Amino acid sequence: MSAPVVPDLHSVRNEFRNELLASGLLIDAGKPGLYGRSGLFDDIVDSLDGALTGIMAPLDAERMRFAPVYPKTEFELTDYIVSFPNLTGSINGFTGTDRDHASLITARANGEDWNDWLSPAETMLVPAVCHPLYERLSGSLPVGGRVFDLAGYCFRHEPSSDPMRLQAFRMHEFVYVGEEETAREFRDTWIVRLLVLLQELGLDARTVPANDPFFGRAGRMLARNQLADDLKLELVVPIYGDLDDGTAVGSGNCHGDHFGQSFGILAGDGSVAHGACVAYGMERVTLALLRTHGFEPASWPSDVRKRLGWAA
Ligand code: ATP
Ligand code: ZN
Repeated sequence: MSAPVVPDLHSVRNEFRNELLASGLLIDAGKPGLYGRSGLFDDIVDSLDGALTGIMAPLDAERMRFAPVYPKTEFELTDYIVSFPNLTGSINGFTGTDRDHASLITARANGEDWNDWLSPAETMLVPAVCHPLYERLSGSLPVGGRVFDLAGYCFRHEPSSDPMRLQAFRMHEFVYVGEEETAREFRDTWIVRLLVLLQELGLDARTVPANDPFFGRAGRMLARNQLADDLKLELVVPIYGDLDDGTAVGSGNCHGDHFGQSFGILAGDGSVAHGACVAYGMERVTLALLRTHGFEPASWPSDVRKRLGWAA
């Protein structure tokens, strides 16, 4: 008798990815972690976002949308390159002469790499949707602070065969900037509301203390401090059974006065502004729903359908 086949994480992830591609929900866009999506996939995203906006309504957040590209000068101020150099993406452009162009074309015709004729365009890919906000807030905030509703594309250079880990994905974030105490209260309150929404959608979600994947040896210290100070909570859903610790579909972060310091933002009481955010990954929650309830939203449990604003 042959031994039973024990599934491993790699093959289970691949299987999920292949099923998503075969169903047409995801479309292979040619690189690990880059996908197109079907209309049905984005219908789920839109309904999910409707439900999220619904629970967040009491915040009366200011809705803003930024492009997924922003100035390098602002990227610089976030220190992202210190903490996450491996995830960073920058934009290059061509600013050469006719002669440079001719050389580029010759190199290209010879099958050579033509990257050398491009130079940094002084713009970066946005790694988290709140980053283009902060420069806009430099100066003094009103007492009580401000709350923003931000959504859009993020880029992180983390190519993976896991369909839950994309290079380009959409994040929907609610961000508070203002007084220190209110910032933590904001995170602690709204991460719970988001958790409840995920559970109402039938997801086996739980909150776990977490840290960001800070790069290198110095990064390990930053990660330990982030955990010790309870600055990051993740909303985790099991996607691959017991094969891993689950996947973070959302998070709640206390930024301390990091952005306030860097961008010269003062709270209403005159202190350096503190910030916090509660966010979810639009693709990750959608994929978690598909994994949990199957690829046919028409036959999802009626309470889940109702919660998404669909006919039960
Ligand atoms: P992870 O720990 O899995 O790398 P994260 O906790 O670093 O994710 P955050 O920086 O908290 O992610 O981003 C907020 C949300 O954006 C995450 O909860 C997740 O839903 C989504 N997200 C982050 N990275 C990716 C990715 N590579 N692909 C898809 N969604 C992502
Ligand atoms: Zn954020």
